[in-house]
Amino acid sequence: MGTTEHPELRKHIINYVTSKLAQNSAFTKVYGNNYAAKQLQKNLNKVFVEDYSYENRGKYNTETDSMTLIKENLDNNDITPYDIYNNQEMGNIVTHEGVHAILKRSPKECLRNRILLGTGVLEIYNKNVELGRGINEGLTNWISGCNETYIDLTRFIRILELAIGTDSVMRLGKGRIRKNVVKQLKMSEDETIHFLSLLDDIYKKERELNALQYYRIVLTNYKNKKEIAPESRERVEQDFQILNKDARYKKLMSGKMYRQSLQKTQETDTIKNRICFIECMTDNAVIRYKKDVNVVQELLYHKYFQEKFTQMCQMRQIPGPMLRKFQRLYELINVNMIENYENLDISKFREQFMKLLERNEITDTKTVRQKFRESIRRPNIVDTRENTNMIKRHINIVDASKQFRDNR
Ligand SMILES: [Zn+2]
Repeated sequence: MGTTEHPELRKHIINYVTSKLAQNSAFTKVYGNNYAAKQLQKNLNKVFVEDYSYENRGKYNTETDSMTLIKENLDNNDITPYDIYNNQEMGNIVTHEGVHAILKRSPKECLRNRILLGTGVLEIYNKNVELGRGINEGLTNWISGCNETYIDLTRFIRILELAIGTDSVMRLGKGRIRKNVVKQLKMSEDETIHFLSLLDDIYKKERELNALQYYRIVLTNYKNKKEIAPESRERVEQDFQILNKDARYKKLMSGKMYRQSLQKTQETDTIKNRICFIECMTDNAVIRYKKDVNVVQELLYHKYFQEKFTQMCQMRQIPGPMLRKFQRLYELINVNMIENYENLDISKFREQFMKLLERNEITDTKTVRQKFRESIRRPNIVDTRENTNMIKRHINIVDASKQFRDNR
């Protein structure tokens, strides 16, 4: 029980992450062929396996240079090299944590950059002040090819890729917010810090939201346990026991807000009322989260795309690459982790873009030869709306055990 060291996993993790990144041509172009292996040898000293927790599936500790993998469920089956190579989810977690280790700043770089610690875009200035955690998680997912967690943060990186190019996004991981990140994002220092802080807020709000949604599901299952199949009841009980020991949950339920709402409604503390309270808290957290996501989308759109899009609307002929760029942007700003998500100004872009596509006078200036070549390569043109719905369905929140844990 608890945490145990698994030194035998280290070489398999290094092997797996190195070979996965070797296939990422943008990564090898920017960082070189041996960088991943060299950094992992240096920055991955220990591997631990920890018991099930709903919060994380993996962790990388920059202070101890250690990676911790967390067991998938309460059965507590151990994690073996087989899982790393054959379980895709485990492979993704290992790669994500591995990228944190690869991008870790050396003590010399930390001194030079006047930071305590850092990996990729993340700069930790002291115990309580840091910048870049949000973009760092999105970037790490993007480099690792994962998108199970930090869905919006990863999506913003894809939008940035469209705006500033793949290589520039890859170079973001080279650190130094005030110099390198400013340069890659083509923003002023103030703009960069503002943008990164917004992403940090989204990171915090996503974690808060995930925790609330997890509490709700555990409590609801517990309340309805009589209707649940007998073989799953034990799991429901265990989840409930774990929740009752959770520090954040205990703090929330013993807090002023819950006590005051019980007093005002003259209700007593029951599971049903706890669920109701958590639902209200979740509604508020969703609104706050969506608002921030919307602000970032707006910012990216205005900064990198609006001018060109306005030009495009005025033009009678649209160059093929530009049309495809906006088609991709349209897909990206339609994908959201929350169903029925509507935002304000970006919806205008979507509306205009659809009109633009439908307008007869808008023609793609690709040559007949180019079109012919493409039609051979990709005979089916994917309808963007259908595609988006498919992605939406795919990322619907369904399973408490999987969806709400993430790899930090
Ligand atoms: Zn992470």
